Amino acid sequence: MGRWRFRLLGLLLLGLGVAACSTTMTGRRQLTLIDDAKMDEMGLAAFASLKQQGELSQDVMVNDYVQCVATAILEVIPPGAGPKNGKWEALVFDDPTPNAFALPGGKIGVHTGMLDVATTPGQLAAVLGHEVGHVLLRHGNERMSQSILADSAVQAGSIAAGAAVPEYQDLIVGGLGVGAQYGVLLPFSRKHEVEADQVGQIFMAEAGFYPVEAITLWQKMAELGNEAPEQWQSTHPSDQTRIARLQRNLPRAMRDYETARAAGKDPVCVPPVVYE
Ligand SMILES: [Zn+2]
Repeated sequence: MGRWRFRLLGLLLLGLGVAACSTTMTGRRQLTLIDDAKMDEMGLAAFASLKQQGELSQDVMVNDYVQCVATAILEVIPPGAGPKNGKWEALVFDDPTPNAFALPGGKIGVHTGMLDVATTPGQLAAVLGHEVGHVLLRHGNERMSQSILADSAVQAGSIAAGAAVPEYQDLIVGGLGVGAQYGVLLPFSRKHEVEADQVGQIFMAEAGFYPVEAITLWQKMAELGNEAPEQWQSTHPSDQTRIARLQRNLPRAMRDYETARAAGKDPVCVPPVVYE
């Protein structure tokens, strides 16, 4: 990007009074051009669209199980993080692909197919911790902001201001991680994946789930190989990198886990016995 463009963007953002930077809970500075409220709004719209296209599971056992694990994870996220109203919703989609996602605005979706891979509460907690991690780390905002910067200053102005610009719809949903029109999820960068893994492993440990299960989960995901849906594939960090990072994060996660257990955290979530 030319220097003139950067200057122009700077002027534009100054003019709009947009806070262009924030710090993640991991202490990393990031570019966030889009207002949190606007992100929530987009997340809610994308979720509504996914709900319309997908089918919700009516299985009470499956729903109770996912609620149980989701509630345990949501109890430990930092106060004030997440949607403005503090309310999260987790829904189960009747879909055989092993997927799960979380969106700004406090929405979580779990495909029934995910439960075939994440077969224990701890493994499901690792998945949900990871997905909620993406939201709390503002990865969607950052990805969208980077696309905007790479594009042009003028677009930055219109999108940051929240203008409805139909031709940038792909960029917006891509940044959010949801191709709402297709009902598919798009991949995050390797950096974002590693960060979400680490935060997710801490969340699960703080909730009282054994953090070694995060490693088991990603080993199982790796075994799926090419059968894995798009967002779990090659744009994710290599399986070895991912697992090595989780191993390195483990001593801290184990300390959090032991503290949580000592404080009486012992989530009892019963996985559905037979799941097809
Ligand atoms: Zn991810």
